[in-house]
Amino acid sequence: MAKDPVCGMEVDEQKAAAKAEYKGQTYYFCAPGCKVAFEKDPEKYLQSQGGEHHHHH
Ligand SMILES: [Zn+2]
Repeated sequence: MAKDPVCGMEVDEQKAAAKAEYKGQTYYFCAPGCKVAFEKDPEKYLQSQGGEHHHHH
């Protein structure tokens, strides 16, 4: 299972309504609307997946 970064839902990769690639990673979405929201502002949704430290390169 993957996590929809927009709404936080668990999404089955096989059944995902939409997916997007961003910075070499594939993200799965429960609905096309979530993908649209993600693509408008990907950083916003990725930042809110807390926990890990940010690495600056
Ligand atoms: Zn969603």
